[in-house]
Amino acid sequence: MAEGRIYNFSAGPSQMPLEVLEEVQKELVNYKGTGMSVMEMSHRSKEYMAIAAEAEKNLRDIYGIPGDYKVFFAQGGATLQFSSVPLNMLGSKAKADYVVTGQWSDKASKECKKYGVPNNVCDTKATKYTSIPAVSTWKIDKEAAYIHYCANETVNGVEFSYTPDVGDVPLVADMSSNFVSKPIDVSKHAYIYAGAQKNLGPAGISIGILHPKFADGSSELKICPTYCSFKTMADNGSMYNTPASFTWYVIGEYLKYTKKVGGVQHWAEQSDKKAGLIYGIIDGSDGFYNCPVEKSSRSRMNVPFTIAGGDEAMEKKFLDDAKKVNLFTLAGHRSVGGCRASLYNGMPLEGVEKLGDFMKSFMDENRK
Ligand code: PLP
Repeated sequence: MAEGRIYNFSAGPSQMPLEVLEEVQKELVNYKGTGMSVMEMSHRSKEYMAIAAEAEKNLRDIYGIPGDYKVFFAQGGATLQFSSVPLNMLGSKAKADYVVTGQWSDKASKECKKYGVPNNVCDTKATKYTSIPAVSTWKIDKEAAYIHYCANETVNGVEFSYTPDVGDVPLVADMSSNFVSKPIDVSKHAYIYAGAQKNLGPAGISIGILHPKFADGSSELKICPTYCSFKTMADNGSMYNTPASFTWYVIGEYLKYTKKVGGVQHWAEQSDKKAGLIYGIIDGSDGFYNCPVEKSSRSRMNVPFTIAGGDEAMEKKFLDDAKKVNLFTLAGHRSVGGCRASLYNGMPLEGVEKLGDFMKSFMDENRK
């Protein structure tokens, strides 16, 4: 049992800014004098429609989303988007390009195979997903319906530091784990989607930002479930059926808070500081800690590392000792092992400084 709040380095769902939780707590039982909780409200009520509209407006403001782009609050998580993207965008072309730089983009490509033909323009699996090959080396099929990339690979700790220039092929991005952590050039994308549970709120919603060209149903496959249809989402303001209304509300609170602290630029500055601190310790540890990812592709959000050359007993001791000083959920993904520190917006700089101090003292005490 932890006493009080911990520093939670989970890859998601992850630590939320305390101020957002406290605001939600304040309003939980009686939302602004309505006599009910937001979770008890009809999603069609005047009060709820105002909450939903404000969340969308704030998202549009912080990213400068072009007015003609559609914004969705879709259920089903990013995994359902792996299906929704081909179902809505393949059209008669029936083939799409996929940039495979980690486990999530690999899953997205495999899901596309159910509905069409994915062409993996690159695949770094053989080198354990530790780099992003230069765009000039990608085998892009210019006739593809779209090209999909994952902006931040949560498991492998690989992040794009730029928007890939892919010519005229519509660009689709899974931004689940680095959404709201830096500015995005929305207009270079045909579709951006992101599960909320890392940097924007509780699980239950994927945000979608869609170019209007793909909102009219013209590239939707006949088998596309109504539930997944971008046109249905756009025509019904994400309320064709009951949305994940409470999650949507908390996302709205997170966005209000984001505006208050200085917008996405604030999170970008914080992220650079936090990631710089941990990578600095890893690189200065003379091999005691090691991050397998190529420096130019390192993620600011998820920092995977091994200890003493992947010594499992030492890594277990690290995780156990970390908990004693309130630093939790630092184990690597079950498929890759080692350790991983996720440094999303909700993790304050003090938490990362504490982790840094702990890493240094653990190294001093345990280096053989
Ligand atoms: N894409 C990325 C980059 C992720 O990190 C995750 C989940 O961690 C997913 C997709 C799948 O998201 P969900 O669990 O919301 O379906």
